[in-house]
Amino acid sequence: MRRLRQFTARFVVARATGAPTLARAAATCVVLAALAARSAAADSPAATLPLYQLLLTNGQALTSYGEYARVGDRVVFTTPIGDVRGQPRLHMASVPAALVDWVATERSRDAVRAARYADTRGEADYTALGAELTRLLDGIVGAPDDGRRLALAEEARRLLAEWPGGHYGYRADDVREMLLLVDEVIAGLRAARGEQRFSVDLTASTVPAPAPPRVRLPTLQESVGQALFLSTVAATPADRVSLLESVHDLLVAKTRELISACPCEQGCPSCVGPAGETGSRAKEVALAVLERLMVT
Ligand SMILES: [Zn+2]
Repeated sequence: MRRLRQFTARFVVARATGAPTLARAAATCVVLAALAARSAAADSPAATLPLYQLLLTNGQALTSYGEYARVGDRVVFTTPIGDVRGQPRLHMASVPAALVDWVATERSRDAVRAARYADTRGEADYTALGAELTRLLDGIVGAPDDGRRLALAEEARRLLAEWPGGHYGYRADDVREMLLLVDEVIAGLRAARGEQRFSVDLTASTVPAPAPPRVRLPTLQESVGQALFLSTVAATPADRVSLLESVHDLLVAKTRELISACPCEQGCPSCVGPAGETGSRAKEVALAVLERLMVT
């Protein structure tokens, strides 16, 4: 902010003293430095998984792996039902659209999209904005008259005002600060031209950045709860059976993982029971039985 104010001050001084070269260099350096400083201050966090949430009117949250789609009166999505060795098991599912709290769901979706944009293209686009802004500033400083300067400043203002809305609110606060500085420049130029009416459209019109997303893979218990709920609102009996089979297989797989991972040799109270009660082959037999219980 201080640097950008410095830019404005230098710009105004340069205009008054007729030193366009110095002003151009100062303006360019200061804006680029401000952009670079902000870039370093906001290094992107670790990339997030493309997980979204369907928030229902009953307060329940359903996890969607990737974006959901509205098809007729239902919402179709891929839901993770547990994981096997760290890999989520994915299942197609759908819920009636009428059960969805669309305001909350779309707010959550926008936040996830914004986070993914920030992690991917955000910084490159912001750098491109800086380059375009610098080009306009160079034009302002080198312009032959105030009329041309004003036109370029207004173009810069339009660019800044429209940017957050088309870029998921990325760096909206930074852009708003730059916008206010450009407003000051515009006000000065209009005053110099003797214009009296220049306060109407000088209000910053940027949108606030969405709240950070908090979507994560569901726990085993949450996965089972979501899948059982989805089975009660499934579109067809086949869909319902398929969901229940997935829950069944998940529980069997997790039980096998638990028994396999137990450090005992022949069974203990933490897995299949004490070897003295269940026999010396209890672990081996339990794992064989569980393998045959898998539906898919
Ligand atoms: Zn054990």
